[in-house]
Amino acid sequence: MTAKIRRYFAENQPATPCLVVDLEVVEQNFHDLQRALPLATIYYAMKANPAPEILELLVGLGSHFDAASIYEIRDVMKAGASADKISFGNTVKKQSDIAEARRLGVDLFAFDSEGELEKLAAAAPGARVFCRLVMTGEGADWPLGRKFGCELDMARDLMIRARDMGLVPYGVSFHVGSQQRDLGQWDVAVGKTAMLFTALDEVGIKLKMLNLGGGFPAHYRTEAPGTECHAGAIMDAVVKHFGNAIPSLLVEPGRSLVGDAGMIESEVILVSRKGYNDSERWVYLDIGKFGGLIETMDEAIQYRITTSRDGGATDRVIIAGPTCDEVDVLYKKAAYELPVDLRPGDRVQFHSTGAYTSTYCSVGFNGLPPLRTLCI
Ligand SMILES: *Cc1c(COP(=O)(O)O)cnc(C)c1O
Repeated sequence: MTAKIRRYFAENQPATPCLVVDLEVVEQNFHDLQRALPLATIYYAMKANPAPEILELLVGLGSHFDAASIYEIRDVMKAGASADKISFGNTVKKQSDIAEARRLGVDLFAFDSEGELEKLAAAAPGARVFCRLVMTGEGADWPLGRKFGCELDMARDLMIRARDMGLVPYGVSFHVGSQQRDLGQWDVAVGKTAMLFTALDEVGIKLKMLNLGGGFPAHYRTEAPGTECHAGAIMDAVVKHFGNAIPSLLVEPGRSLVGDAGMIESEVILVSRKGYNDSERWVYLDIGKFGGLIETMDEAIQYRITTSRDGGATDRVIIAGPTCDEVDVLYKKAAYELPVDLRPGDRVQFHSTGAYTSTYCSVGFNGLPPLRTLCI
């Protein structure tokens, strides 16, 4: 937690649950990534946190943007981004949305299938397209699995199809999986893309761009290599597989730009046990899976947690959300410990929660309002 965030909570005591984002940290993270990967253009994956203040800040810093939907494209343009700085990075798009993006001036689109290419050829003729390769997601705390991307041989054929359909086969992308902790995955992924560059070169298609996606970590309970380590692994892999013919590089960080910039404060509603001999206490908070902490699904993302009562003895707890739904339990297996004297009204902080929280909130489930976001 930054001093600025601590001061904000102390001075304003906002009603909980509340997410406070320190824009200075977002700016610092942007510069750090730029410094670590000077050859790469940053496309902020705005789905991680599309708060207007964050978008405006990044527009001012000269960032590009990876948009997942036409709504995100409209929002980021409203924040001041020009269309030539936007990539429509979702491989699953409605044709009408492709057409609107094209009308707005967007000229960079992702695909991973023939069906998507047909829509792009119809609604955005002449546009630059990049093909996403499927990855395993191995080593990632929040893998993206096989939902996106296609195999190498299919990507080759689709790129040829793209050219024949009047699109511009521009580059290749992948995503190694979010909160990636295995630096070796970059070599695997970049190696695959280099094979595709070579295979297409043989049929006269010269790709220009390599989109490295996201995957750079935030600072959660289990340590992960920092951005500089990832950048080093990326550049080692790029030089190894592309030699002197390095294509233009793109990165699409979401989590690593905004994750550590945010902190959620919540309040204890109840502490209880289920039986006289129950070894674990249940701690119920005013935020849960439906209030924005959905990445605790399968306890995949384990946030650092502190409380207003830290310092004394602790013991094992199960941490649960406030709604009347069985799945609204945050951590059980993860064996968190909280102060033994924790009681209703105490504050509980979830650190590094600036990414994938505010927008993951349900709409009024159990009548709960959406997670309030304040950018300072
Ligand atoms: C979500 C997403 C990202 C951001 O990934 P992080 O791991 O949060 O950095 C980047 N690119 C694409 C295409 C995405 O869908």
